[in-house]
Amino acid sequence: KVTIRLDKMLGNLGYGTRSSIKQWVKQGAVRVNGEVVKDHGRQIRPNDDTVVLNGETIRYRDTVYVLLHKPAGVVSATEDMRDRTVIDLLDEEVTVLSPFPVGRLDKDTEGLLLITNDGKLSHELLSPRKHVPKTYRALVAGTVGKEDAEAFERGVELDDGYVTMPAQLEVLASLSAVAGDSEGQMKADKPEAAAEMSAVLDFAPSGPNATPLSWIELTIHEGKFHQVKRMFEAVGKKVLYLRRVAMGPLKLDPGLAPGDWRELTEDEIDSLR
Ligand code: URA
Repeated sequence: KVTIRLDKMLGNLGYGTRSSIKQWVKQGAVRVNGEVVKDHGRQIRPNDDTVVLNGETIRYRDTVYVLLHKPAGVVSATEDMRDRTVIDLLDEEVTVLSPFPVGRLDKDTEGLLLITNDGKLSHELLSPRKHVPKTYRALVAGTVGKEDAEAFERGVELDDGYVTMPAQLEVLASLSAVAGDSEGQMKADKPEAAAEMSAVLDFAPSGPNATPLSWIELTIHEGKFHQVKRMFEAVGKKVLYLRRVAMGPLKLDPGLAPGDWRELTEDEIDSLR
């Protein structure tokens, strides 16, 4: 059951500092379920208790929707024995509502992760029958080409025999192999793609090597364990860096750096329903 201290709840809502709130409560400005409460540490159940401050009923939301730009190195779980979790990145005003990640990204994957306590919505977004599209960008070792796009459109067989649903693959940029002292040549249709690819080249093995690299975008309509990495394995290529940029109608906000988060706008919440 979600509970929160009275002073914390009023503080989170912006009703003043901890000490001014304490004073008000002491002076009898707050009623909980009709009764004056002078204990500022009183535990409130935001979903069930009615809190009135100076005659004004306080509405404390009971659902929360967070868009996190997951950084590498944290796990998509609410608790973990060893690693930091995506929940550890949020503030208490959010975590008090016991949110959880909608689906998982691997520990080393970055990008869009929805975190909510709306179980119904989470269930719908993850339902295999809904085929909610998920779009990823990845740095892949090797030259990704038309044959790979065709294979992904037909479906590829993963290591466990599962054949994937049609997925859409596009090459956004490529870097030719580094040979001797000469630098690789970058090719991209859009300058943004070249810039994005350049920013993740640290994930490729360093030093002179003969491996060309590809910066790709892949949209899948299901969510098998390690799906993107395993799809590329199925065509003999390795994913070096992976970022999710969209899930259903939600897009990764370019203003959010890895580790940053914000709550969804009302429009975004509506778009998910
Ligand atoms: N596919 C993967 O391989 N890893 C992820 O984190 C997400 C999709």
